[in-house]
Amino acid sequence: MFFVHSHDAPRTPEPVTVVDMTTSAHPSPGPTRAGGPVIDRLVEANQRYAADFRDPGMDARPVLQVAVVACMDARLDLHSALGLDLGDCHTIRNAGGVVTDDVIRSLTISQRALGTRSVILIHHTGCGLESLTEDFRHELEDEVGQRPPWAVEAFRDVDQDVRQSMQRVRTSPFLRHTDDVRGFVFDVKSGLLREIDPAR
Ligand SMILES: [Zn+2]
Repeated sequence: MFFVHSHDAPRTPEPVTVVDMTTSAHPSPGPTRAGGPVIDRLVEANQRYAADFRDPGMDARPVLQVAVVACMDARLDLHSALGLDLGDCHTIRNAGGVVTDDVIRSLTISQRALGTRSVILIHHTGCGLESLTEDFRHELEDEVGQRPPWAVEAFRDVDQDVRQSMQRVRTSPFLRHTDDVRGFVFDVKSGLLREIDPAR
């Protein structure tokens, strides 16, 4: 098993059938719980959402001119945690909130085509990437017969990883604005952000 989740305190006791998402190449159908296949539930929720939805009349440029780069972790609700409303920001998420070439691609478009100026980076405590190593790639290669072209970007020290991410944004030649780049660690137990000093 490659990916070890660090969900040590699941909030909802309701029975959930969990499918290991990384050991099955074609998970079909998705995990179910009371109410049917999970994607059916999402589509039904969307129908309720759309019933009350009103076109906010905005264009695509984020109101607050900010891009948020964060881990995909399910415990991190960015809009609630940062007091963001619809239309306020760009949200760029991946495993670890790592600043990869594709994140730079999104930030470049965000800044040059859609007017954002600030970048906030959010990693978090208990990240799944802390329990991985680059062995993940080797094991994956052994299993599927092909080496993935991407790095796992596993890390041991979350503070240092935030610093590295800030550095990658600040030194990107493609970005127009690199003066307002700040990095934080979100504590999944308290909900608080802790700012990381880029200099240390
Ligand atoms: Zn994470």
